[in-house]
Amino acid sequence: MRLACAEINLSALNQNLARVRQLAPKSRVMAVLKANAYGHGLVTIAQSLVDADAFAVARIDEALALRAGGVVKPIVLLEGVFRSEDLAIAATSNFHIVVHDEAQLYMLEHAELVSPISVWLKLDTGMHRLGIEPSLCDDFYRRLESCKNVAANIKLMTHFACADDTQNSKTTEQMAHFFQNIKTVHNELCLANSAGIVGWPKSHCHWVRPGLMLYGVSPMLAATGKDHALNAVMRLTSSIIAIRNVKAGETVGYGSAWRASNNTRIGVVAMGYGDGYPRHAPNGTPVIINGKRFSIVGRVSMDMITVELGDDHSVMLGDEVELWGPNLPVEEIAQFATTIPYELLCNITPRVEYKYI
Ligand code: PLP
Repeated sequence: MRLACAEINLSALNQNLARVRQLAPKSRVMAVLKANAYGHGLVTIAQSLVDADAFAVARIDEALALRAGGVVKPIVLLEGVFRSEDLAIAATSNFHIVVHDEAQLYMLEHAELVSPISVWLKLDTGMHRLGIEPSLCDDFYRRLESCKNVAANIKLMTHFACADDTQNSKTTEQMAHFFQNIKTVHNELCLANSAGIVGWPKSHCHWVRPGLMLYGVSPMLAATGKDHALNAVMRLTSSIIAIRNVKAGETVGYGSAWRASNNTRIGVVAMGYGDGYPRHAPNGTPVIINGKRFSIVGRVSMDMITVELGDDHSVMLGDEVELWGPNLPVEEIAQFATTIPYELLCNITPRVEYKYI
């Protein structure tokens, strides 16, 4: 019996990368691998994505783990670096850094590095998280250009706040803000995350930065990966470890939060929030056993969930249960648990066994 397991389908992953190329045929692809490749396993995912042009991570430790795993492609640090020691490491390890504020530029201007470093200048066009005020683009660009620590071919980027909604004009406004402010700078540009790639072709430019869609999940609201010709990469499974009869009126689980209205059967599945399954998944959240949907009843606990089998006697001890995957979109589970697929994927814990197929 295999308990909590994340089966990772590497051909689905590469089909999704091919889908990115189909949608943005003129762009180079920087595959976003932060947060353990969205819970799919950082180094293995990077090694599998042989057709990607570069990788992006949030933090320097993630980039170092990639280099330690033998990854030689360019790696972009999306948050940039904040300490001079990290700048030195970035230079020796050939990481590209994002510069998004004055303090980072100042540090670059005053550092002694073994070799110049590749820089992405990030403009804040409306996300108001990271990035310089776009009207300062020329000034920052000229300073970077004249800095001995900065390699030639400075690139420019921004990040969308609402690209998952094609009815929202914010993305058009962000693009306009970006293009207006880079008029005198003629370098490589990168705007599109997955939602930009799928929903906003004008944002494609020289580079695209897909994360979620590589893992087969829809970046657009109210859709699943399949709607965008993407294939689920992760299949999260576990097994039935107990089956019990429960009489009408009896309760199941912590807080006795669910009461059986009829005599019924309950299957206990070895999967809980200790594995990363969302604790807030309510009664009615689906799982799949032997090709059939069943519903979670009672509270999700650390190691177990309970599903109502009713009068279905086909389910046996040891049967496999799919929590999400190709047959049960993670988007649907996220909706039940009032969260987003990103969070579910990232939250898989080390207790879950990974199997790459
Ligand atoms: N670019 C940046 C700066 C990001 O922070 C992220 C992820 O949040 C991405 C690209 C990839 O986004 P997505 O996973 O929606 O494609």
